[in-house]
Amino acid sequence: MERQFAEERVKELHQTLNEWNYAYYVLDKPQVSDQEYDSKLQELIAIEQEFLELKTPDSPSERIGAQVLEGFTKVQHDIPMLSLGNAFNEEDLKDFDRKIRERVGDNFSYVCELKIDGLAISLKYEDGLFVQGATRGDGTIGEDITANLRTIRSIPLRLKDAVTIEVRGEAFMPKRSFVSLNEAKDEAGEEQFANPRNAAAGSLRQLDPKIAASRNLDIFLYSIANGEEVGMTEHAKALAYLDSLGFKTNPLRRQCETIEEVMMYVEEWTEKRQDLAYEIDGIVIKVNSFSQQDELGFTAKSPRWAIAYKFPAEEVITVLKDIELSVGRTGAVTPTAILEPVRVAGTTVQRASLHNEDLIREKDIRIGDHVIVKKAGDIIPEVVSSLKERRTGEEKEFFMPSHCPECDSELIRIEDEVALRCMNPKCPALIRESLIHFVSRTAMNIDGLGEKVISQLFKEELIQDVADIYFLTQEQLIALERIGEKSALNLIQAIDASRENSLEKLLFGLGIRHVGAKAAKTLAQEFDTLTNLQNASKEELIRIDEIGDKMADSIVQYFSMPEVHELIAELQKAEVNMQYKGPKKIAVEAGETSFAGKVVVLTGKLSILTRNEAKEKIELLGGKVTGSVSKKTDLLIAGEDAGSKLSKAEELGIDIWDEEKLVEELNREV
Ligand code: NAD
Repeated sequence: MERQFAEERVKELHQTLNEWNYAYYVLDKPQVSDQEYDSKLQELIAIEQEFLELKTPDSPSERIGAQVLEGFTKVQHDIPMLSLGNAFNEEDLKDFDRKIRERVGDNFSYVCELKIDGLAISLKYEDGLFVQGATRGDGTIGEDITANLRTIRSIPLRLKDAVTIEVRGEAFMPKRSFVSLNEAKDEAGEEQFANPRNAAAGSLRQLDPKIAASRNLDIFLYSIANGEEVGMTEHAKALAYLDSLGFKTNPLRRQCETIEEVMMYVEEWTEKRQDLAYEIDGIVIKVNSFSQQDELGFTAKSPRWAIAYKFPAEEVITVLKDIELSVGRTGAVTPTAILEPVRVAGTTVQRASLHNEDLIREKDIRIGDHVIVKKAGDIIPEVVSSLKERRTGEEKEFFMPSHCPECDSELIRIEDEVALRCMNPKCPALIRESLIHFVSRTAMNIDGLGEKVISQLFKEELIQDVADIYFLTQEQLIALERIGEKSALNLIQAIDASRENSLEKLLFGLGIRHVGAKAAKTLAQEFDTLTNLQNASKEELIRIDEIGDKMADSIVQYFSMPEVHELIAELQKAEVNMQYKGPKKIAVEAGETSFAGKVVVLTGKLSILTRNEAKEKIELLGGKVTGSVSKKTDLLIAGEDAGSKLSKAEELGIDIWDEEKLVEELNREV
């Protein structure tokens, strides 16, 4: 390559990579795939190796992450949080192995771990107590997200040992939570997260901890920053020590003696990664011994004793045959790509949501195009891009209609939303979809009453709203196509049984905007009856954790509508239960709360609850509160300045919680 050309290319690459870094790290909205990013970064590194003078200190190849977001308190990392060097194939791994041998000889071993695709987090504990949690940021300065991290249940607030320690790990969003979060976002007309990594980062880098709390995040810890200070000499033992302190580490790690064994581990997980409940984007390989790690040292950006092998993305090419429109129960009109069936990441894919017209324009996707398809979060099929070079001229551009494909009313774009919506409450598609939603598993769970039967009943005008379901007769059902006497009877019985459901199922089934299954449960637990909830003011609603402004407005507005009053009256007439009978009561009765049958001692000064309140709540959940610590004690709640009872409990190895953990557990149960 010519020097002048190289210089120009480096400038271009700096600009592109900086832009992508900003979108990825600061906005949590990547503009391109990781593979595309990595290939540009590798190109830059290759040029910099050829023309050393072109490598400047501000090069993206030298920088970690990005600057911190405004609004967060900055945290200076005492020990920098570095990135990892990358390997993309066997050759890179052999090269890594060779360099290590050159420096430390042949007598060493590796630890292989799954590379969890989340974001790096640092947790500080003083005398066993969780005091601060931070993001990696630019490696030197991160964001203080302690309040958000406290909402992750697998982060212990107090360790089993009173050590002062800084641990590091990867916070992540399990695949299932990612799918439901994106479904909820889609339903609310909000932009979806591109992958679980960005969803986790976007959830933790929020100023309101309620958001993080509602996102089902989790964490695996993978290192101790000050390992040698706490007496560790090797990585495998440090991980075992983390386990013993009460941290969650990933159990699928493996110690390997040779790079060939490492490659077998890589191969194994390249195949099996689809089966994991969380997303991984590669394998991290680390030299086990700390003294050998010290010998190997660091580059400016990453340790020389570790490397991240990155999986190639599974992307396939297929033909986009058509774009279909569907109207959801909220009226959102969504274009869906109909694909020539193709296998990707373990399943055959025939359809992929295209979300909205803007996205179709942005990616310039046309009917008849060859397209690249992958699975976001390894689950949701996604059209990545179109292959323009394979166009024949026959491809057709797609335009969203101005009117609803089902009822022909004008489609509206609500401010701040990307989706076009049909606003006609009588639109048959809307009604049909809300009926299907009402009987679905997470809602009223009426067995046998699936999409097909509902569509038939609706078409025959036997049901117009959800209350009508409860007035159906066996004769009406038998008259339908493909429904015999027996299945009609089963259906009637299933409908009957659903009258007894606990309130949250009905609440979710009603399909109030922004109220998902989880919020429905919280509301049911909080208000106990539908009438109480109907009478709740916005102020009462937002006082509840998890209920934000938008949801509160939507609930109040929903219950103010006269047609909703009519519907509820009909449901009452149908004797549908409107009372909460959920896990709290059942769990206490069945002895299944985390306090049931436990002997608990309270000590020290409590500041959130009074002693009496704490006692009352524990007892309500089936626990027994006693005055002194003995072998029979199961749990000690240690407030401030706890003294002899605390030491005794420590001696006896009794579980110890601080007040915050107690409150968190009580909130979870109540
Ligand atoms: P990295 O993802 O290549 O590797 C380092 C990180 O791996 C660590 O910081 C840690 O968070 C994580 N990790 C997961 N499991 C681990 C384990 N068991 N042990 C140790 N670490 C573990 O490096 P990075 O600096 O975090 O990110 C760079 C990567 O991010 C790029 O290679 C690219 O794939 C992606 N990226 C993408 C875009 C985009 O626009 N798509 C932009 C910027 C970066």
